[in-house]
Amino acid sequence: MERGLMNADDAARSAARVMARCDALAEISETAGQLTRVYLSPEHMRANARVGEWMRAAGMQVWQDEVGNICGRYEAAQPGAPAILLGSHLDTVRNAGRYDGMLGVVTAIEVVQWLHQQQRRLPLAVEIVGFGDEEGTRFGITLLGSRGITGQWPESWPSHPDGNSITVAQAMQDVGLDAARIGQAARQQEAIVAYLELHIEQGPCLEQANLPLGVVTAINGARRLSCVFTGEAGHAGTVPMTQRKDALAAAAEWMVYIEQRTQQLDPQLVATVGTLSCAPGAVNVIPGEVNLTLDVRGPQDQPLAALLSDLLTQAEAIALRRGISFSADEYYRIAATACDPRLQQAFSAAVTQVQGASMLLPSGAGHDAIAIAERWPVGMLFVRCDRGISHHPAESVRETDVASAIQAYLHTVQHLATVP
Ligand SMILES: [Zn+2]
Repeated sequence: MERGLMNADDAARSAARVMARCDALAEISETAGQLTRVYLSPEHMRANARVGEWMRAAGMQVWQDEVGNICGRYEAAQPGAPAILLGSHLDTVRNAGRYDGMLGVVTAIEVVQWLHQQQRRLPLAVEIVGFGDEEGTRFGITLLGSRGITGQWPESWPSHPDGNSITVAQAMQDVGLDAARIGQAARQQEAIVAYLELHIEQGPCLEQANLPLGVVTAINGARRLSCVFTGEAGHAGTVPMTQRKDALAAAAEWMVYIEQRTQQLDPQLVATVGTLSCAPGAVNVIPGEVNLTLDVRGPQDQPLAALLSDLLTQAEAIALRRGISFSADEYYRIAATACDPRLQQAFSAAVTQVQGASMLLPSGAGHDAIAIAERWPVGMLFVRCDRGISHHPAESVRETDVASAIQAYLHTVQHLATVP
């Protein structure tokens, strides 16, 4: 089958519609003047209804699944063929930007809309899913939408409460869903051949490279630890400098090491001390105990583990030398998710066609693709965003970049759906 290319005029029209639709979705919020839309809220259902209308207008058959994802199918040349699944999420953090998640859903609709206008059917169906929960804003557990599709909901999730003690199951009932039917959202392995997700980069790398689009190699794995240096509180005036067991000075020494060592080891690794609290916390008292968190991430598990082990060894050494103690407790761990090489290649070829060069980069943030990758090959396309800002109202993308993104997305989908 000959591959259709979207011309620049069509791409510009599509991009303008995408920007308008992101604006329209940003109006569907629980707070006026800010964007906050959480899982199983009335706003979630309104967003689903709106997106469902757009999918229908693009020639898709539309349904809402048993966990509240909005789904659409553009039938293949032979009805019933497996599908390429395109998607992203429609939920947001509190006071969010309007592109994180939503951009991936509305650009996917443009891909299908173009096929529909050209009356073009592919050997594979094209399905789109707008996931109900990726961010975990309401319940503190994440990827509920995509784990519905993979059938990986833990038994504990339906009874998990939100901040108002409303459980997931109750919240489902409030919007007309039935927690007893969650399992029915799971898709058959053979019904889907690949999952593609377009998303804003949420980082500054594309902007620095002066490129609108990039292809994701992997979604970073992450580890989070809560750490404690325990020294001895004492009088800031009377204890001589040589006899102190200052927990905060130890923490400070470690933090400088974390920053330097991580840069030295691998430019793709990142490590952050994001919180620190100091007790007793008075101007005239030597800090006796410091609690701090450590977050380390990287695109491959082994180098990440090696970094973490290096950092913890150094913390022990610092504590030992200062005559104090150190302990660390890992409370969160997620493995790195590799993007499928064939899907990376397809995205790369399309991106090169559109912008003259491709760029490969890991994703520092988590995405629905993490859950989907447990069952199907995944690929991700990143779109440059202004100064890398996300999870913030200032989140912004250029309309011309969106036009390029839609072209590359369409090329990729047609290529994957056509070449066996
Ligand atoms: Zn997102």
